[in-house]
Amino acid sequence: MRIKFNLITQIFIAFILAIILGIIFKESIAVIAPLGDLFLRLIKFIIAPLILSTLVVGVASSGDPKQLGRIGLKTVVYYLLTTAVAIIIGLAVAFMLSPGKGVDVSLSESAPEKEVQESQSVVDTFLNIIPENPFEALASGNILQIIFFALFIGLAITFVGEKAQPVYRFFDGFAEVMYKITSIIMYVAPIGILGLVAPVIGEYGLSVLLPLLKVILAAVIACILHAAIVYSSAVRIYGKINPVTFFKGISPAALVAFSTASSAGTLPITLKNTQENLGVPKKISSFVLPLGATINMDGTAIYQGVAVVFIAQFYGLDLSFIQLLTVVVTTVLASIGTAGVPGAGLIMLTMVLSSVDMPLEGIALIAGVDRILDMFRTTLNVVGDASATVVISGSEKELPGQRNAETP
Ligand code: ASP
Repeated sequence: MRIKFNLITQIFIAFILAIILGIIFKESIAVIAPLGDLFLRLIKFIIAPLILSTLVVGVASSGDPKQLGRIGLKTVVYYLLTTAVAIIIGLAVAFMLSPGKGVDVSLSESAPEKEVQESQSVVDTFLNIIPENPFEALASGNILQIIFFALFIGLAITFVGEKAQPVYRFFDGFAEVMYKITSIIMYVAPIGILGLVAPVIGEYGLSVLLPLLKVILAAVIACILHAAIVYSSAVRIYGKINPVTFFKGISPAALVAFSTASSAGTLPITLKNTQENLGVPKKISSFVLPLGATINMDGTAIYQGVAVVFIAQFYGLDLSFIQLLTVVVTTVLASIGTAGVPGAGLIMLTMVLSSVDMPLEGIALIAGVDRILDMFRTTLNVVGDASATVVISGSEKELPGQRNAETP
C-alpha cells in the first residue's frame, strides 16, 4: 500500500528527520547542505519578480487609492505596535529568567568584524525607500524599493485607465506564472528543509548550546508567549479565525522560516499560505507581506530585549527605566531599516547597545549561537507578518466568510 502524505506532513517529517540525522551524524551531516542551498536559491530567485508583479496587480485591481492608503496605515500601525509589545515581553521574560547571571562563556571569536558598523540614520532609511534606479532595486533585491516601484506602477495603471490595460494584463499573467513557480518549488521544500536544518543541528552540539541555554530558552518562551497572546487574540478578534486554524495554515511558512532564518526568503511561501490556507485576498497579502518582511520583526525585537538584559547582567550593569525605554524605541525604529535576512538582528543589536552605551563586545557573547536564535526569531517574524494579513483583511471585511456575508 502506498501512503500519500500532504506537503505539510512531508515538511514536518523532513524537519524531525533533520534533527535526528543532525544528532546522529554531527558535523559530517554537512555533506547534505547543498540540498538546502538548492532550495534556498530556488525560493530566492522568484522573490523580486513575485513581489513586483503581485503588488502591481494588487494595487491596480483594488482601484481605490483611498482603501490602499487605509490598508497602508493600518499595516504600519499594527507592525509598530506588535513590535513594541514584543520587545516588552522579551525584556520581561529575560528579567524573570536572568540568563546572564552566573554564566561562564568565553567571548566567541566568531563575532564578525562587520557587525560593528555605523548604521544609517533614520532620514537615510526613509530616503532609501525611493530607488534611484528601479532595475537596480530589482537586481539587488531591495524589497522596500521594489514595493515603492510597484505601488507607483499600480497606481498609475489605475489613473491611466483603458490605455494601461495591456500593462495590467501583462503583470496579471506574470503574477500567475510566479505563483505557479512557487507551487512547483514547494515540492522540493521537504528536501530543502532537511538540507538546511540537519547541518545546523549537527554543528551546534549540546556543548555549544548549554552555557547559553537560558538565553535561548528566554527567547523561545517570549516568542511563544507573544504568539499565544498577541497573534491569537488579534486573528480571533479581527479575522474571526480560530488561532489553531491560523497557526496550522501558516505552519509550512513557519518551518521554512525556521530553516532558512530569512523572512525575505520565506516570502513566496508566506504569500502562498496566507492566500490558500487563510483566504487572505491577494491584493492585501501582496502588500502587507513584503512590507512586513522588511519592517516587521517581532521575533528580532524579542531577541534584542533578551540580549540586552543578558549582556547587562553578564557585565553587572543595572539598566535604568530610561535606558529600557530607549531600548524599546531604538528596537522599533531599527527594525524598520533592517532587512529580513539571516543575521540581521545581530547588526540591529549594535544599534540598540550603543543607544544605551552598553559594551558592544557583548555581542561576541551570543554571536556563537546566533544562528539558533535567528531560527526562532525569524519564525515569529514570519508568523507576525501573516497575522497582519488576517487582521487587516478582517478589518476591511475582505476575508472569505465576511465577503459572502456582505453579498446579498
Ligand atoms: N533573520 C531575521 C529575518 O529574516 C532577521 C534577524 O536576523 O533577526 O527575519
